Amino acid sequence: MARHDAFRVRQSIVEAARSLDALGLTQGTSGNIALRWEDGLLITPSGLPYARMSPDDIVFMRLDGSFEHPLKPSSEWRFHRDILARRPEVNAVVHAHPVYCTAFAMCRREIPAVHYMIAAAGGPTVRCAPYATFGTEELSAHALAALEDRTCCLLANHGMIATGPDLEKALWLAVELETLCRQYAVALQVGTPVVLPDDEIARNVEKFRSYGLKAQD
Ligand code: 13P
Ligand code: ZN
Repeated sequence: MARHDAFRVRQSIVEAARSLDALGLTQGTSGNIALRWEDGLLITPSGLPYARMSPDDIVFMRLDGSFEHPLKPSSEWRFHRDILARRPEVNAVVHAHPVYCTAFAMCRREIPAVHYMIAAAGGPTVRCAPYATFGTEELSAHALAALEDRTCCLLANHGMIATGPDLEKALWLAVELETLCRQYAVALQVGTPVVLPDDEIARNVEKFRSYGLKAQD
């Protein structure tokens, strides 16, 4: 029974990883996904094309970073592990390089409250974490700081991270963040986007909470 459950969970990670391309969130082997599991996490392997990934390729890692698997875990295991260790409400982490998120991240620009949907990020901005080399502890520290009181962030000259209580909601948030960045990019070409006040975003964050925002809403 437990083995069967573990297989299904691994399968759901493979399906989520495969969906990244179709959702317009990534291409090639960029991006990675982790899910809290038992006393550690299940994480996509490093550098394996999603089309060739099978449930057995998903690496189980303990919170101390140890693992026994023929494949190496994603090079970004540190921030996945650190987010899951520090944020008990988070069970799933999605990292990708979507075009519009990454364009703002290349310019090291945070996303202001130009649409009420930014409330899905948990506050009035989506921060852009300072640059650090991929896979490093430094990048993980920057990501954790940018995620304080937030559910997602940009990574300078790299991409984005979205978190959630489950995989479906983390993927949903990743799509919402990319949509927000796309809308903001177009708005900057149309004119001067108006930023909503903090108290209005706080109201929306509260509304999202009380209405129990779902991925399907
Ligand atoms: P992995 O293939 O090691 O998961 O790395 C992809 C990536 O996005 C690094 O930031
Ligand atoms: Zn990356």
